[in-house]
Amino acid sequence: MKISRKILNRRIGIVERYQEYLPVTDKTPIVSLNEGNTPLILSEALPAYLKLNVRIYYKFEGLNPTGSFKDRGMTLAVSKALEEGGHAIMCASTGNTSASAAAYASRCGMKCYVIVPDGQIAKGKLLQAFRYGAKVIAIRGNFDDALKLVQKITQEYPIKLVNSVNPFRIEGQKTGSFEIIDELGDAPEYHAIPVGNAGNITAYWKGYKEYLQLGKSEILPKMLGFQAEGSAPIVRGEPVANPKTIASAIKIGNPASWKGALSARDESGGLIDSVTDEEITWAYRFIAEKDGVFSEPASAAAVAGVIKLARQGYFQEGTRIAVTLTGSGLKDPDFALSFDDRMESIEPDADKIVKLIGV
Ligand SMILES: *Cc1c(COP(=O)(O)O)cnc(C)c1O
Repeated sequence: MKISRKILNRRIGIVERYQEYLPVTDKTPIVSLNEGNTPLILSEALPAYLKLNVRIYYKFEGLNPTGSFKDRGMTLAVSKALEEGGHAIMCASTGNTSASAAAYASRCGMKCYVIVPDGQIAKGKLLQAFRYGAKVIAIRGNFDDALKLVQKITQEYPIKLVNSVNPFRIEGQKTGSFEIIDELGDAPEYHAIPVGNAGNITAYWKGYKEYLQLGKSEILPKMLGFQAEGSAPIVRGEPVANPKTIASAIKIGNPASWKGALSARDESGGLIDSVTDEEITWAYRFIAEKDGVFSEPASAAAVAGVIKLARQGYFQEGTRIAVTLTGSGLKDPDFALSFDDRMESIEPDADKIVKLIGV
């Protein structure tokens, strides 16, 4: 039987969907896992809690193939690496880049080397890198050390660097903005996003500007970036030597796209602020327990930021706020289970269960 590839409403990846706006040609081999096209979920609980007449949309990037937005950039970076005859890729990672790189490399038969800070990677991310077949190297240092090593090695050896200093990563990630505008009919007034290495805020801002130029939208959002307080180099105006936060995906002391983040902030009239680990944790629990959306701690930094600004009266009534929830909550089971949840183990007896739940 001949299998048709033309399935109705086939879900296609971001390179195929947005090829006219990306640096690809007919000859670019597309390495895809049908990433992108993630849901834009209207929050019910957050505006009610804040007693604020705004619409807050979660762009839930945790539903990408490897569970984070990194897939948008990786599909293009790996496609271009393959087009250029590459056989191997390398990245430094706080976890999600390595998971994504490993998956796309496996898909096209490339070797994948990932360098991670020892003992600082969420378990879900690390196990993905292993299962997709990457070579994982842990260094006794932090992310910033790892990125320096990767830049040095990929300059000297025939291995393609796939961190977000690779411009194809940014190009792929800008499609997040395209999807939001395609769905809302225009850009939102505000866009909140966590900031680690600052590639994603740079990418979203690029996407918003390009769609405006193409006449696909009429307004530009104010870009609102959020760092964790113990890891807030851009807010402080200087690199942080030993960044500290429970949000491991944004635990970066010297962001590679620092300038891009400042441009996004200043050109859009937005801001970059910090939130504490307590605020991140509260937001992380709130959106899962009250809105049914389970994202990882770094993603919740953007939600914490929106809450912080809302309390200061920052948002205009009747406006729309998009929040990028960058990764899935399943990535970090240790953090997810670090609260006082208790599971009772009892006899298999209906009366006992009824008594326990108190109905
Ligand atoms: C990579 C990552 C970030 C930070 O994005 P940058 O582009 O490095 O600023 C935030 N959250 C999650 C879940 C990530 O994986």
